[in-house]
Amino acid sequence: MYAYIILFGILGLVFGSFLNVLIYRIPKGESIVFPSSHCQNCKKPLKWWHNIPLFSYLFLGGKCFYCKEKISTQYPLIEVASSFIFISTYIKTSSLYEGILLGVIFDLLLALSIIDFRYKEVPDSLSLTALTLSVFSGNILLSLNNTLLFAGGFTLLRFYVSYFAKKEALGEADIIIAAIIGAILGIKLGFFAIFFSAVLALPVFLFIEKKDIQIPFIPFLTLSLYIVYIFSTQFKQLISWIYE
Ligand SMILES: [Zn+2]
Repeated sequence: MYAYIILFGILGLVFGSFLNVLIYRIPKGESIVFPSSHCQNCKKPLKWWHNIPLFSYLFLGGKCFYCKEKISTQYPLIEVASSFIFISTYIKTSSLYEGILLGVIFDLLLALSIIDFRYKEVPDSLSLTALTLSVFSGNILLSLNNTLLFAGGFTLLRFYVSYFAKKEALGEADIIIAAIIGAILGIKLGFFAIFFSAVLALPVFLFIEKKDIQIPFIPFLTLSLYIVYIFSTQFKQLISWIYE
């Protein structure tokens, strides 16, 4: 058990390091393979020991080895968050396969949230990968069924909300995230997660609305999905209590 937790912690750090590459390069339309990792300031390629997740950042004191330019704290923060995600999905599933699969899905959703927050649009390459993987997170036919149901339901909801709001509400990417929620959580918990995401977003929207800043919705959908997934047992109890 503990050996696996450490293994998942390390896997999370390594995948988090890859996530940084995705977050940094995909919105700019750059290749995620070439060129190899380099300093953003002096462009010198990094040696392997400059590139160890988290530890290199600490070892180098958060600065480039060559030009001493500060390295963004986003790098170690994403790596630690990813490690935390992988450990939590392993503890939740107690399964090597499911733990890794869900870890990768939530990591991709984390990348999507950050990209959405920064650029106000999300790359389909990441959202569709996450959606495809999420169909394999449980019984495939059932997951596929719920995926289509949530994608369709959310599309209709988008028409209604846009009609009453008299402007385009909910992005196309939100529909893909809703489909992922359906695949992973199923119908009852999935509906609850979408409701819960609105509850999470409401105070932020009310606060920011006055300042006229656009707030992306994907981070809230993602956060809600993660919380409801990790505490699904508790939320199931809550839901059955509400229904009865
Ligand atoms: Zn440098």
